[in-house]
Amino acid sequence: MKITSIHEGTLPISSTIRNAWIDFSNMDVSIIAVVSDVIRDGRPLVGYGFNSNGRYSVGEILRRRIIPRLLVADPADILTDDETNFSPEKIWDIVMSNEKPGGHGERSVAVGVLDMALFDLAAKVADKPLYRFLSDTYGDGVPDEDVFVYAAGGYYAPGKGLPEVRAEMQGFLDLGYNVAKMKIGGAGLKEDLQRIEAAIDVLGDGSRLAVDVNGRFDLDTAIEYGNAIEPYNLFWYEEVGDPLDYQLQSQLADKYPNPMATGENLFSLVDSRNLIRHGGMRPDKDILQFDPVLSYGLVEYLRIQEMLREYGWSSRSCIPHGGHQFALHIAAALKLGGNESYPGEFFPTGGFADEISVENGRIKLTEIPGIGLEHKAEFYKHLRALHA
Ligand code: MG
Repeated sequence: MKITSIHEGTLPISSTIRNAWIDFSNMDVSIIAVVSDVIRDGRPLVGYGFNSNGRYSVGEILRRRIIPRLLVADPADILTDDETNFSPEKIWDIVMSNEKPGGHGERSVAVGVLDMALFDLAAKVADKPLYRFLSDTYGDGVPDEDVFVYAAGGYYAPGKGLPEVRAEMQGFLDLGYNVAKMKIGGAGLKEDLQRIEAAIDVLGDGSRLAVDVNGRFDLDTAIEYGNAIEPYNLFWYEEVGDPLDYQLQSQLADKYPNPMATGENLFSLVDSRNLIRHGGMRPDKDILQFDPVLSYGLVEYLRIQEMLREYGWSSRSCIPHGGHQFALHIAAALKLGGNESYPGEFFPTGGFADEISVENGRIKLTEIPGIGLEHKAEFYKHLRALHA
């Protein structure tokens, strides 16, 4: 059993939207295809991966460091001990050889893109949808049959006023979502409160709206906004300060009694552990958003889950960033609290299988082997073109 070739490329997911820090006009992602010599139905099994939105493509690191290390590895060293499948864990150690600790930068994204493709491939070798493969391999064998998803939107965009915010939120309800998220911190407090109230007016209750600052605020602004939004009893108050400013997070926790969420820009076990140790996050109410693709893949995410257990956190406190089908399978298999979803953004990579819709805020999984990216027709054309 061998990997015969690996193909990577770049796909634009450009958009006119913006949050409090960045616009997405030049956003792109890396895509990858890992081709094996395992033949099913007359064709080699291929694993596919890509990085979730918010971090740019990482082709240089993939081409110069990560992929070559895997291609020169002894085929016997990349298999499970019983040699019945590829081992993403063993491959993780191989591709991370000669890499210093710390300073994770974009390297964690490159490893995550490959890791996604390897898990897609391994599930296909096992002939199981990824969530069942992961549940059997790492979980209790009884995965969740559906997953809570919330609609992440509410971006700032040219010409977008309160009527457009209302229409967007109504659209999320019409699609079957119960909870939505909007960006704040990209306008003044007065305007943001008007946007929040417009959204709540449509959603029906503040507990159905999360707000996301994308790391924009200093402590004073974080507390000023926190005091202003506290009466709304929002679903959560997300990434309020710089993702690595654990003291700010902790000081905010002293002042803001309602749920906080953060973690999408922490890219390693060690960074995640620092948040748990020093960030004042409260296991009974706060949410952890580590993204399995951006942070060195599922191999590292499993280590993060182990760490969380040691610190007394439930897997249900995790709702990953990214809105992608990989994390959806992980959420079902590891019994997370849910998964992000971007109904209107990041075409064609974002979102889930074409035939699956949200019902009462929850979504089911694909039952074809692997992640099921073959059932995202527009995206699959790009993935298949990598190697066809
Ligand atoms: Mg966010």
